Amino acid sequence: MEQKYVDYMLDVLERLLEIPSPSGYTGRITEFLLKELRGMGYEPNTLRKGGVTVDLGGEGSPVMFFGHVDTLGGAVATIKSSGALMLSNIGGLNPNNTETENVIVITRDGQEYEGTLQVANASTHVNPNVNNPRNFRDNVEVLLDEFVTSAADTEALGIQHGDFICLEPRFRITSKGYIKSRFLDDKASSAVLLTFAKYLAEEKVTPKRNTWLSFTMFEEIGHGGATGIPDIIEDVIAVDMGCVGQGLKCTERMVSICPKDSGGIYHYDLTNELIAAAKKAGADYALDVYPMYGSDVEVTLRAGFDVRHGLIGPGVYASHGYERTHIDGLKNTYKVIHSYLIDD
Ligand SMILES: [Zn+2]
Repeated sequence: MEQKYVDYMLDVLERLLEIPSPSGYTGRITEFLLKELRGMGYEPNTLRKGGVTVDLGGEGSPVMFFGHVDTLGGAVATIKSSGALMLSNIGGLNPNNTETENVIVITRDGQEYEGTLQVANASTHVNPNVNNPRNFRDNVEVLLDEFVTSAADTEALGIQHGDFICLEPRFRITSKGYIKSRFLDDKASSAVLLTFAKYLAEEKVTPKRNTWLSFTMFEEIGHGGATGIPDIIEDVIAVDMGCVGQGLKCTERMVSICPKDSGGIYHYDLTNELIAAAKKAGADYALDVYPMYGSDVEVTLRAGFDVRHGLIGPGVYASHGYERTHIDGLKNTYKVIHSYLIDD
């Protein structure tokens, strides 16, 4: 993988992460994807419910790769008498690892307000119960950085129930190549897919199968991959975070190939083809069964599409928290996709 494409991959990852995109608030990231893909010379399509698909060219046996660009987040559920906000989680947001994160509240008329997720009465020197268990229903709240002391004050800002609460991702790359940020699930894989599209366009390379990308926008709430698949598509491959943790072989520096997760078994032959592609490319890969995981392509099958399905992605530790992957994990994922679609 040429350095200019590694540079693009990290740059576009940072730009994807800068755009708040909790499931349900994906207009801005849609515009970004359309502009980026059009800039490469492609003609992307949008889905009514939200989502971007694009045909990258090639002939025969159409295959579609999914990356999801929606993230966890929150919606304003209650405006408290103090003026602080209780939130309803969007996707599997965890109160324990979101406490103390900076957030932006986005209103329906587009105003943005800063705040912080804090336990209520958060001063250790004041509250003897400050270490009680956390949950979003009772004690974790958004403290707005505004001059508010009542619900009326907060409502006067234009904040209403259902407004989006978006967490700061805190992206950084360390000297050893680790990438730390929220929402690497699944913007890391989406950056890999955009880089592959850019490579094909700039190098004028045609993949050996008709290749499509789908950037889905409802994965975190479970129905991203249910729509937007043209009838011609034979295989769907989710490029989504690989699990890293106790009992699994994958690290952040590897690409994970998943033969089974808690949602079910992936297609036997397609998974073998992905393993063969990893071997051919010399990619550092791990085969792992994910204990608590479901993917967009399983949703595709449940929606009734007759396709083969597979799942690969860069190893991501501390998933749904402050996540960590590594540049090598992204490169290894790219290598598998490249090897699968292009004969060198
Ligand atoms: Zn994901």
